[in-house]
Amino acid sequence: MGTLGPVGRSAAIIVLAVSGAVAAFATIAPSADNEVLLSRTSSVETLDIPAEALLTSPESYIREERFQRGDTIAAFLSRLGIAAEYAEKLARTRALQSLRTGYHVTAEVDADGQPIALSFLTGRDTLVQIAPEGNGFRATEERAALYTQVAMKSGVIRSSLFAASDAAGIPDSVAMQLADIFGGDVDFHRDLRKGDQFAVVYELHHLAGRPVRAGRVLAAEFVSQGKAYRAVHFGNGYYAPDGKNLRKAFLRSPLEFSRVSSGFGMRMHPIARAWRAHKGIDYAAPTGTRVRAVGDAVVDYAGPRGGYGNVVILRHHGQYTTVYAHLSRIAVRRGARVTQNDTIGFVGKTGWATGPHLHYEFRIAGEARNPFSIAMPAALPVAAQDLPAFRAHAAPLVTRLDLLANSNLALLE
Ligand SMILES: [Zn+2]
Repeated sequence: MGTLGPVGRSAAIIVLAVSGAVAAFATIAPSADNEVLLSRTSSVETLDIPAEALLTSPESYIREERFQRGDTIAAFLSRLGIAAEYAEKLARTRALQSLRTGYHVTAEVDADGQPIALSFLTGRDTLVQIAPEGNGFRATEERAALYTQVAMKSGVIRSSLFAASDAAGIPDSVAMQLADIFGGDVDFHRDLRKGDQFAVVYELHHLAGRPVRAGRVLAAEFVSQGKAYRAVHFGNGYYAPDGKNLRKAFLRSPLEFSRVSSGFGMRMHPIARAWRAHKGIDYAAPTGTRVRAVGDAVVDYAGPRGGYGNVVILRHHGQYTTVYAHLSRIAVRRGARVTQNDTIGFVGKTGWATGPHLHYEFRIAGEARNPFSIAMPAALPVAAQDLPAFRAHAAPLVTRLDLLANSNLALLE
């Protein structure tokens, strides 16, 4: 598959008008990877791919990574999954020498770590594309004329959210938005189960017929342990189809969800103890994983304290406090104000800890409580005067989620 994007993987591609009736399209073959692209044209076409092509495991995968401050090109290429022998050669190309902090590089890499194609948009809105040629690589740079389409994807969790999104051809940035959007209802470190499903409608920025970068999630569904949550983007936030705000006063998980932290807990499972005896929740995660404030708060304590090691205690509105222990490093000072999702420290193993993990406590009036048994208050719903506009905006997106949910059901049968 020589394409840079998910288009080449899809079993069926249906193009229809954005404004057109969704009911206009034909049956979609059951597949893990159904995709509907919406564009401004009104023609309908289906690409038939032989059934056996759907049964083989992917021969390549697509990863998108951000070039970060302090990155070496070699280390960056290895993060993209490119084997050292190819990375060494690639790092010497002039095209990659032009990488700057913040550039997003998309790479299609085969199972052996051999790059099939790399591309990135420069700050000058040109697109650099690199592909193998002979013994080396060939690079081209051209003016980027981006346009945005709407992509729809669905997946079923077998091991982790990232494994599922890889399998469905969903970029990391979209998977992480999903974890953010549903972060008030689902703890993506603890709650994921085999068979959980998701569907997502998102912007996909294209260049010359190929997707180059994902944009914002427009609507999504996540089915966690049989319970379905739906979100529609509207204004500055995400709302359930009935207009309720998905943002909660407290996030379900104090750990940022990332490719590195996802699945770590399962490998480190022995550290998990019953909540009842232990009055807290332990999250096994690599040292240095970002720990975030679960809600708006004032820092009540930040420093070492006995068996807790380096600990941060946050005082939230009402009678709520949260405790984050065994930190390797603390990022806030006593008395400081923090807002939900702010970094307060990093996972470590200070104090009485046998390995790197976060010990997290949720207290009400000083009493440790199991946060998973408490219904969290939500932020404000869509204002009454905006409801008609919200409903009109949400209806076609919800229809698309229905369609994706049906294709998932077909897959499970
Ligand atoms: Zn603990």
